[in-house]
Amino acid sequence: MAYQQRCIACKKNFVLITFYTQRPVCVSCDMKDISDPIESPKWKKFFNIDPALYEKSSFLRSIKRNYLRQGALTQKQKDTFLKVVKEGAQPRKKENMKE
Ligand SMILES: [Zn+2]
Repeated sequence: MAYQQRCIACKKNFVLITFYTQRPVCVSCDMKDISDPIESPKWKKFFNIDPALYEKSSFLRSIKRNYLRQGALTQKQKDTFLKVVKEGAQPRKKENMKE
């Protein structure tokens, strides 16, 4: 069921559309979309994760976008965000162990 469609923001890059795709926006436009500065030090720290994780996970991007639009997250959104970050960070930890 997956197909390619041009990004609605830059109209240049193709985006893989699947059942889970919320918006046909390519990763680089999506990254720009969530790069607004965060005022609150608490939230700044919360979202201050490896940018590669945002590039990898549309879920993490959508959570950050929710925060930027609404100024808050539910407890469940926070918990899931932290869980995904932790899972995404695991292979990286293994690599570091080799050093
Ligand atoms: Zn784009």
